[in-house]
Amino acid sequence: MTDETTNAPVAEAPAASLMPTYGSAAVTFVKGAGTELWDDAGRRYLDFLSGLAVTSLGHAHPEVADAIAEQARTLLHVSNLFGTIPGPQVAATLDRLLGGGGQVFFANSGAEANEAAFKLARKWGGGAHGRYAVVSAYNSFHGRTLASLAATGQPAKHEPFQPLPEGFRHVEFNNLDALANAIDSTVAAVHLEAVQGEGGVNLADQDYLRGVRELCDERGVLMMIDEVQTGLARTGRWFAFQHYGIVPDVVCMAKALGNGMPIGATWAKTEVAAAFVAGDHATTYGGQPLATSAARAVLAVMEREDAPARATRAGARLSEALLALPGVSSVRGLGLLIAAELTEANGPETAAACLQAGLVVNGITPTAVRFAPPLLVSDAEIDEAVAIFAKVLAP
Ligand code: PLP
Repeated sequence: MTDETTNAPVAEAPAASLMPTYGSAAVTFVKGAGTELWDDAGRRYLDFLSGLAVTSLGHAHPEVADAIAEQARTLLHVSNLFGTIPGPQVAATLDRLLGGGGQVFFANSGAEANEAAFKLARKWGGGAHGRYAVVSAYNSFHGRTLASLAATGQPAKHEPFQPLPEGFRHVEFNNLDALANAIDSTVAAVHLEAVQGEGGVNLADQDYLRGVRELCDERGVLMMIDEVQTGLARTGRWFAFQHYGIVPDVVCMAKALGNGMPIGATWAKTEVAAAFVAGDHATTYGGQPLATSAARAVLAVMEREDAPARATRAGARLSEALLALPGVSSVRGLGLLIAAELTEANGPETAAACLQAGLVVNGITPTAVRFAPPLLVSDAEIDEAVAIFAKVLAP
């Protein structure tokens, strides 16, 4: 590839100028539409990962694109010293989808949505003079900032960055006794995923999340659910916790809310949110109109299309087809967040081979591949993706 004006080679330069936090990219994408992507050589791919469960309405969704373009021409940013129109509208819609009775803080990412939740829990619990600790689960993922990393239950990821902020502890997922034992008088909140996405698409047991709700009520601690990956219809309900018949005190979300526009949100029951007063928490960009106008369009399309029902139906078709493949030993997940367990222990290698064959998925564990296509994926696209996957498994 050459620079359009200087005709100098540019392919090497951009990669070399980036910090080495990510592995080298196998493919450079230049264009997307719905479930399709095209690379810089013009090759077409089916995107069954959606930017890690972000582009839930597919790439370049016309209504979201129009909303962003229109807002960019109208008003990008004025700071949180002033009001803007779309933010409160999105907050009201989210509150309705969550069952009502809460308030929203806007951030710019999933990690930041969790950070706001941790600060809220500390303020609510009285901080160092009261309750401040957060209990989360092993194998969880909550982000890469220092506090969200501390909450992430993956000790190997902690090691290079010690000392991490105090007040975070971990227990075995789906083990209610372990959680009960971990909650002492310093604990302000329990922070869990209903489905551990990065941890391998591991579902919370029905009894577990219900038991967590009861335990939190008994002990007077907040139940906080990280819906950054699972939220906004991905699992077949607006939020994954809604499969469990419980209502958390705090819900964190991001990813699909902007369909690619960076945005995060922390919802809390109004009586919990009341712990925050002006000046307690803030972010320059959080809630700014460009991101919230994208989110407003995303929610409007999702509601009109009944995205949860689409995810349920398409998820059933995809799961069934995957399970029928030789080379797949089991399939787990909810809606369109699915992991296919392989008979050969080669998740990452299989995902790499899929990319070569024109299908974007990822190796979520050494033995499993994750599928998270757009919620509006068509039956024909599911069939095409499964055919590619089948060929990769049995060439
Ligand atoms: N929480 C969960 C459950 C996630 O899956 C992720 C990202 O994968 C995060 C938090 C972090 O979100 P972000 O990368 O937007 O900070």
